[in-house]
Amino acid sequence: MQIHYQTKGFIHPSKPGHPERPHRQMAALSGLLQLPEGKLSWHGAQPVELVEAEIAHDPNYLRMISEADFSRTRAHQLDGGDTVLSETTLEAALTALGGARSATAQIMSGKTSTGFVVARPPGHHATKNSGMGFCLLGTAAWAALDARNRHGARVALIDPDLHHGNGSQNILWDEPDTLFASTHEKGNWPGSGQPEETGGMGQIINVPLDKGSGSATMREAWADIFDRVAEFGPDLIIVSAGFDAHGDDPLSGLNWTMEDYSWFGKRLAELADEVCHGRVLSILEGGYDLQVLKHGIAAFSAELTELDDKSTSPGLVPDTDLMGWRAPHLGGYSNMPHPGQEALKVTKVGGRLWIEETATGQFLYTVPEFVKLISRDPLTHLVREANALGQLPIDMIIRLEAEAKRVAGFNPGRSNDFS
Ligand SMILES: [Zn+2]
Repeated sequence: MQIHYQTKGFIHPSKPGHPERPHRQMAALSGLLQLPEGKLSWHGAQPVELVEAEIAHDPNYLRMISEADFSRTRAHQLDGGDTVLSETTLEAALTALGGARSATAQIMSGKTSTGFVVARPPGHHATKNSGMGFCLLGTAAWAALDARNRHGARVALIDPDLHHGNGSQNILWDEPDTLFASTHEKGNWPGSGQPEETGGMGQIINVPLDKGSGSATMREAWADIFDRVAEFGPDLIIVSAGFDAHGDDPLSGLNWTMEDYSWFGKRLAELADEVCHGRVLSILEGGYDLQVLKHGIAAFSAELTELDDKSTSPGLVPDTDLMGWRAPHLGGYSNMPHPGQEALKVTKVGGRLWIEETATGQFLYTVPEFVKLISRDPLTHLVREANALGQLPIDMIIRLEAEAKRVAGFNPGRSNDFS
């Protein structure tokens, strides 16, 4: 499997405490790094030109986001505050498109059969003319159109994210040679995705799942969808790979488990092997609990990597040490602290506790709203440990959040996956 990923870790900042944050990407990469050596090759994604996005988006919308003025504000809010457009967000979103295009070219030319684009922001809520739900550009739907236009491929886009892929549906509504299928929690945001929404040519499939439902319901729904995908006869299957339907995700009302993600990956691999030479391109969407995201992406991808028989060279292996990632505007700084100075410290700014890199002043981490710290101690302990180690690996952040949820007795999780 080829991983095409965003190499600038903190590009596209989030609002402090927001669940959709740069650490998600590092958690996803950390999960993929658990897979056996020789199964993965790593590639840095490069942005496409803005004009390329026009196959999926209204030029007026693209002009609006590309001409946004940052002289008075560091970020605009597109969707009542939930979707942040900072000065680097568009570059980040265009890089996700570039990753998808490169991975598709590699898959369609037979160099690999599977790819995964790990980049932010996610995309499946972005419609032709609006960003929403943390999404700016519709990466997965764009990738489907790009694969069709450039490679003549029939493309099935499947979306197991917790939320309805309303943006993908909007972009693909009237597009021939594409199929879009989504499961999502009934009644959850954005509220669309009723079974009667079937697209201009009956090629859109929506299966809302009852709140509180779990493995049996999801497997039944996806077994049916996989049959429909087989009937459609795709040349490529794209997955809007969200991991927020897991029972431990803070946004989830569904009860999917790690075993469900393995099951999904395995059934998908069998289907792809049968109908499209094993060609599967996955694109990261949601998934807000870092522990779930890390292990979910690994469980899902482990099954898909079985499709690639040849071992590959590792390529550009990612760094999952937070101190190894530089914010774009701080590029060039040395993070060597002065003599006697610790590399990291805990700082309180704007009522929030942060882990700050001493030499650069860069804020590397703050706890998301859905994780409650009962004191400053967990951060202080973590910083002490990281200073001794000379690193702040994302795995230490994942452990901190998991511990904090346990200690505070605040665990929105309903799975037994991590108990
Ligand atoms: Zn989602």
